Amino acid sequence: MSDAARDLATLLDLDPARIETTVLRHSGPGPRYTSYPTAPVWTEAYGPDAFRRDLGGLAAGAEISLYVHVPFCRSLCHFCACNRIITQRPEAPADWLDTIEREIALLRTALAGAPRVVQHHWGGGTPTHLEPAQIRRLFRALDDAFPVTPDAEVSIEVDPRVTSEAHIEALRTCGFGRLSMGVQDFDPRVQAAIHRVQSVASTAALVERARASGFASIGFDLIYGLPFQTIASMERTLDDVIAIAPDRIALYGYAHVTWVAKQQRGFERHDLPTPPDRLRIQLATIRKLLAAGYEPVGMDHFARPEDELAQAARSRRLRRNFMGYTTRPGLDLLALGPSAISQLETAFAQSHRDLAQWERAIHGGEFATLRGHALTADDRRRQWVIAELLCHGGVSAHAFRSRFDADFDACFPTECAALEPLAEQGLVEFESDGGLRITALGHLAMRPVAMVFDAYLPAHQATDQPVFSQTV
Ligand code: SF4
Repeated sequence: MSDAARDLATLLDLDPARIETTVLRHSGPGPRYTSYPTAPVWTEAYGPDAFRRDLGGLAAGAEISLYVHVPFCRSLCHFCACNRIITQRPEAPADWLDTIEREIALLRTALAGAPRVVQHHWGGGTPTHLEPAQIRRLFRALDDAFPVTPDAEVSIEVDPRVTSEAHIEALRTCGFGRLSMGVQDFDPRVQAAIHRVQSVASTAALVERARASGFASIGFDLIYGLPFQTIASMERTLDDVIAIAPDRIALYGYAHVTWVAKQQRGFERHDLPTPPDRLRIQLATIRKLLAAGYEPVGMDHFARPEDELAQAARSRRLRRNFMGYTTRPGLDLLALGPSAISQLETAFAQSHRDLAQWERAIHGGEFATLRGHALTADDRRRQWVIAELLCHGGVSAHAFRSRFDADFDACFPTECAALEPLAEQGLVEFESDGGLRITALGHLAMRPVAMVFDAYLPAHQATDQPVFSQTV
């Protein structure tokens, strides 16, 4: 059993009333920290020229991660706050392919030399909204410009409702080896409310086909906190999930962000679980996954002990970026497609979310950078601390000193003082070297702990504008 699994097992033994009282007092809006600084901090002052300059600084032969955002979906899932375009027009993906091929060429010529792609990922939207022939064409264009290394991790998100046997064949021929799919919840009443009807049988059949064709790892996304969800309904979903036995499970709290995803307003008339019920569903889910042999990974993932993600978590090689948790450390992430976010060592850059604006920029021969942020020295220290907390559940003061040639407590006196009440509540512990550790109970409040180190958060909290989803 990993240390993280032992921690969570300890958590489940605690008095439920104590868990609820302690954790729910930290419920409030806050980031998920797939980036630091978070996207609301980025501005248009960082535009295409800044992005081109920063790309030019990448060394030839640098190891990179490549991400493609395929924005199309066939129908709208009502819980979804992703950047996606709902369409059934066949011309839309065809036009998008023409544009992304130009973007690939633009990106390649901006680099000093060919990078080494050690991670290659397609997300969305729904990448398998593309026809199998379009998938082959896109992969060829990417691989010609940015060849993947032999041991690269090549992964894709698929929607079982639109993914055929021909898709699976095309993906394997291209070299995809990992596949993740949205499941969310198998309960018929929940599925009807979220407008995403997906049977257990079709999901299991797709997994079986993918395994038979050689996919090494299959991941499921589940969500707790959806309308009409109860502990009993979630446990039934988990029985089905555990029987299918995916290698990885991402367990996300439903993000109710109606100012971004207006269709979620319908849920307010339905039966969203109350915060205590939502927490109970989360705990029941953790209990089932641990009992089924899954190991916790970071803040909200689980994996079979033999899966690379679980191994990375055990050996502290886990990293976090826009794709979630990853096993490849310290990579520059170059992203293509509308709304896609590139993450360089020096900066973040996001492309236009609007398809027409993205297309116009690319066809004009320019990057479609809408906004970004050049990292300061302070940003980098805080980025590292937040990533350590969310990946490894703690910060070593010794490691901080080796990395930044500075003392953790001297850099963060205000933050250390702000953590004292959290230590009294049993959410964190100070280590003898001056570092910090999130406790078993604190596992349920990792985002609030990380928020202590976010220098930009007070400015967001001072406005009336809603920005982030609820942390607990
Ligand atoms: S959840 Fe996935 S399939 Fe559904 S609308 Fe969002 S991106 Fe598309």
